[in-house]
Amino acid sequence: MNEHLEVANPVRTKAIMERYGLHTKKSLGQNFLTDLNVLKNIVSAAKITEQDNVIEIGPGIGALTEQLALNAKQVVALEIDDQLIQVLHEVLVDYHNVKIINQDVLQANLPEIIETQFDDPSRPIKVVANLPYYITTPILMQLLTSPVKWDSIVVMMQKEVAQRLAATPGNKSYGSLTLAVQYQMDTHIAFDVSRRVFIPAPNVDSAIVVLEPRSQAPAVLPFDERSMFRLIKGCFAHRRKSLYNNLQSVFGKTPEIRTQINAVLEQNDLSPQIRPERLSLDQFILLTNSCHTAGLLS
Ligand code: SAM
Repeated sequence: MNEHLEVANPVRTKAIMERYGLHTKKSLGQNFLTDLNVLKNIVSAAKITEQDNVIEIGPGIGALTEQLALNAKQVVALEIDDQLIQVLHEVLVDYHNVKIINQDVLQANLPEIIETQFDDPSRPIKVVANLPYYITTPILMQLLTSPVKWDSIVVMMQKEVAQRLAATPGNKSYGSLTLAVQYQMDTHIAFDVSRRVFIPAPNVDSAIVVLEPRSQAPAVLPFDERSMFRLIKGCFAHRRKSLYNNLQSVFGKTPEIRTQINAVLEQNDLSPQIRPERLSLDQFILLTNSCHTAGLLS
């Protein structure tokens, strides 16, 4: 058996760390996965095949990278910690379909990396990662605002954040992050992961979230996406307040604006007392367009 296939167990992980004198860096969100079953399940959830190009964010000491390499056409892994680069090259020496790039993903030009690092950039492109928790949201926003058309994004994150991404209207986790993600992607939690399968164990449990391009576009499109997301953020600024009060905080409280807000709510068949978390994405889109027509949003 290839000895590198044993990377993902606690003994082997500790042995690699000792051999290279590594100490995990909390500041970089380093919690290494040590359970081969969990790793294989992540690769299955991402439906990786030998047709796929995969970008991995934060390979650590290569446990997930190795499983990806076994299943994908090519893997390009971006790791910020220069201390891990040599380790990765050595641990993954047998895998000729892996490239390691020493880079901060938040500074990376992803379209350029795809174009220059993959032999055939036209293949399906998937992101798979055990994300560094301290920058989960910025990374997701970077991926979703990138011009790249991802075939899927399958990522591990803090369970609480995963629940926000997959929430439905009325749920306490439902909010502006939910809507920002679900505007583009169908989203579901594939499975939960116990904190016990990491070295070191984080303080929270985790979950694997699967994001795939929406199978159906929203029923209506907003007149302007940025304005819609600004409005959504404003509507969730005070979750315990009514939609009407939140809209007043966004647009102002003059009698004229109050009349406009009331008209917009009536037009959309929304009670002024309704809480923002009750509105579906389609309702937020309609609300955005009505606010635009009423002259409240430009
Ligand atoms: N993939 C490995 C695993 O599953 O065991 C490690 C996952 S660990 C949770 C997160 C990894 O992301 C660490 O290796 C860390 O150094 C790396 N990382 C943190 N910030 C990063 C950034 N801005 N860009 C790229 N990698 C980063």
